[in-house]
Amino acid sequence: MSEIEAIKGDKIDVVVVGAGNAALCAAISAAENGARVVMLEVAPIESRGGNSHFTGGAFRFAFNGVEDILKIYPDIAEEELENIDFGTYTEDQYFDDMFNLTQYRTDADLVETLVKGSFETAQWMHKQGVKMMPGLGRQAYKVDGKFRFWGGLALHISGGGPEMLAALYAKADSYGIKILYETPAVELIHGDDGVTGVRARHEGKMHNISAGAVILACGSYESNAEMRARYLGPGWDLAKVRGTRYNNGQGLQMALDIGARPYGHFSGAHAVAWDTNAPPYGDLTIGDQFQKHNYPYGLVVNANGERFLDEGLDFHSHTYAKYGGEILKQPGMFAWQIFDQKTIHLLRSEYRIRRVTKAVGDTLEELSTKLDGVDSDGFLKTMREFNAACRTDIPFDPNVKDGRCTEGLVINKSNWANPFDSPPFEAFAVTTGVTFTFGGVKISHDAQIEDTSGNTIRGLYACGEMVGGLFYHNYASGTGLMSGAVFGRKAGTAAARAVLSN
Ligand SMILES: Cc1cc2nc3c(=O)[nH]c(=O)nc-3n(C[C@H](O)[C@H](O)[C@H](O)COP(=O)(O)OP(=O)(O)OC[C@H]3O[C@@H](n4cnc5c(N)ncnc54)[C@H](O)[C@@H]3O)c2cc1C
Repeated sequence: MSEIEAIKGDKIDVVVVGAGNAALCAAISAAENGARVVMLEVAPIESRGGNSHFTGGAFRFAFNGVEDILKIYPDIAEEELENIDFGTYTEDQYFDDMFNLTQYRTDADLVETLVKGSFETAQWMHKQGVKMMPGLGRQAYKVDGKFRFWGGLALHISGGGPEMLAALYAKADSYGIKILYETPAVELIHGDDGVTGVRARHEGKMHNISAGAVILACGSYESNAEMRARYLGPGWDLAKVRGTRYNNGQGLQMALDIGARPYGHFSGAHAVAWDTNAPPYGDLTIGDQFQKHNYPYGLVVNANGERFLDEGLDFHSHTYAKYGGEILKQPGMFAWQIFDQKTIHLLRSEYRIRRVTKAVGDTLEELSTKLDGVDSDGFLKTMREFNAACRTDIPFDPNVKDGRCTEGLVINKSNWANPFDSPPFEAFAVTTGVTFTFGGVKISHDAQIEDTSGNTIRGLYACGEMVGGLFYHNYASGTGLMSGAVFGRKAGTAAARAVLSN
């Protein structure tokens, strides 16, 4: 008997569609609550894990001080503790970030669940075997002998997505949760009793899999060029995809087909500066290393050699997810990030990988001849004007918004404005890399999907990228994994309880 026939013979309480972070959190939570769980994953086992596999592991949770950090990262050495100022990231700060970044559009109920559940969920992840470590050099620089965190993202998942998933797969396995690979869910089985299972393809054949509840945790539509063009607009079909090739909006489509309510910023996406020569989809051997997030300490020019955004508007964690989309609007859809030796040491390891598109010049004139596709004269004019406009009387400090700005430019730089006078100059070519799309389905407090009339659809839940209404226009780094974990746990728990109480 084939694997799927054997599974169909068992009574399944909860089917989880997908096998990334949100799906695993949902599946484990359902199993913790006594449900028999099966997971369906479209990818082969070697490509499993969706976007979650590609993450560097930034993980945003609220905490009130180092005592909270120690609950999640108890192994910290005394010496390390003395040299790090974690500060705080209170629930209020988290709320402020979510509201400010989304221009006050984020759904207040969803964001409350996210923020208030974040610390407890970080503890739960730790309990599942997911290890954390401080994000030094990413979210804190050493100034006067001490690392100071600036934006609340104190801990990252140690080993990023791959290690996080390894821990969660092991936990799922310990509960006896079966994962069927190369088995896309294609349709929901739906009738008067709500959703009672899914139709899935396995080894070329269609199968009906009955279950008490279905949790859709199968990503958004970022990997689908046609849907990107349809929802995000012209040009987005040409963007590179940072992560998995398997998030093609199938979950969204299945839910909409039975009357789920589309919700959130359908024409919005998380997109970043990504190496121009990166492959069309993510490469698991490189992970997130094509990203180039350190532009706040440099300058960004387009094909005309002109700046088109305020590189120093805020810390990268508050601008990187929207600035990727600005590159898409530039001629040729590319840009170059420029640095000199004063800030090169601040650049993250992503700038030092072998597969990087880079140019170096001992003078700005020499560099200008090496920036593929860029108008030299325009570039040199921009650099001259920029250098003359820097307020060098204000001290540079990468750990705070230092107010070292430019004055008198068409687009000023608000912070960290250093004149380019320390050769050699280094430049990195970037294009738009789409991470995930913001539109999704409307869910209730329990992660149950609502229909277009506002009623919950019996037996149907969603979590992770499938959830609409959290992100609009922008995003705070480290929220994707946290949202997947918070709503994954909600969905798993609620689905198990609903099924087992029947
Ligand atoms: C390069 C990169 C770096 C990132 N870094 C961070 C970070 O540091 N911190 C952070 O918080 N977020 C980060 N993110 C965002 C984060 O990865 C996502 O928000 C999060 O992982 C989404 O989790 P998910 O479970 O919803 O989706 P995924 O992890 O993408 O899982 C969806 C799964 O569903 C499967 N699937 C799709 N369709 C079907 C179908 N029809 N049937 C069955 N299975 C299906 C897919 O194959 C996939 O395995 C990053 C993303 C990328 C791409």
